[in-house]
This record gives sequence, structure tokens and C-alpha cells, in this order.
Amino acid sequence: MAQAGEAFSTAHLDKTPEEIAALMLPLLCDRLGVAPTHVTHAAAHRWRYARVTQALGQPFLLSADGSLFLGGDWCIGPRVEAAWTSGTAIADDLLAQG
Ligand SMILES: Cc1cc2nc3c(=O)[nH]c(=O)nc-3n(C[C@H](O)[C@H](O)[C@H](O)COP(=O)(O)OP(=O)(O)OC[C@H]3O[C@@H](n4cnc5c(N)ncnc54)[C@H](O)[C@@H]3O)c2cc1C
Repeated sequence: MAQAGEAFSTAHLDKTPEEIAALMLPLLCDRLGVAPTHVTHAAAHRWRYARVTQALGQPFLLSADGSLFLGGDWCIGPRVEAAWTSGTAIADDLLAQG
């Protein structure tokens, strides 16, 4: 699996998955030192909203009646640690409610 960098992804954001695979495959083959003719399957997937650009700034949201929690990386930042921090903060709050 090859993951494109931010600059590449931004430059090719509006291309189709097929176009992106066609662009990335020669780069990957070149890096691996294999001929593109040896490739039997190639597919690209685009996560358009993969990275949180402006986080909420607090670990979760809670409805006024305390019955609905909203959390995730979008609350804190674009990394899995942020999702973990948000989830554990929700768990701590639930436990504190008894
Ligand atoms: C390609 C890629 C590479 C990444 N690499 C890294 C990395 O190397 N290091 C790193 O720290 N982070 C990385 N991340 C970011 C990391 O994956 C996220 O920060 C993390 O997964 C966010 O966790 P989350 O639980 O907030 O959201 P998610 O993991 O997105 O979980 C949300 C869940 O909610 C589900 N869902 C959505 N809508 C509904 C609905 N209406 N009803 C029911 N379920 C729903 C989704 O199916 C999903 O399972 C990467 C992300 C991508 C896309």
C-alpha cells in the first residue's frame, strides 16, 4: 500500500480514483524497482476529509440533557491519539455521572 503525501493529495484532489492510481503507480513501481507491467491490481481511495483542519478545541460535546455525547478526532486534532483522548474523556464523564 502506498499513501500519498499532503502536497500530492492537494494537487490531485479533484482527480478520479482511476486517474490517481495511474499517477501513483509508476512512482511506487519506481521506488520498489519493479516494472508496472508486473502489477495485476491497482486501486486508489481518496479520503477527502481525512485530516481535521480546525479542531473543536474541547474533547467532546454533550447535549443539554446529558444523554448524547459527540466525540472523535475532530474535537482535538488530526491524529488517532486525539480520537483516543476524546473517547476516554467521554468515558470518564460517563463514569463520573455514576
Ligand atoms: C489514510 C489515513 C491515514 C491515517 N494515518 C494516520 C497515522 O498514521 N497516524 C495517526 O495518528 N492518525 C492517522 N490517521 C487519522 C486517524 O485514522 C483518525 O484520526 C482516527 O481514525 C479518528 O478516529 P475517530 O474515532 O474520531 O473517527 P473514525 O475512525 O473515522 O471513526 C468514525 C466511525 O463512525 C462511523 N460512522 C460515521 N457516520 C456514521 C453514522 N451516521 N452512523 C454510524 N456510524 C457512523 C464510521 O464508519 C467510523 O467507523 C489517518 C487517517 C487516514 C484516513
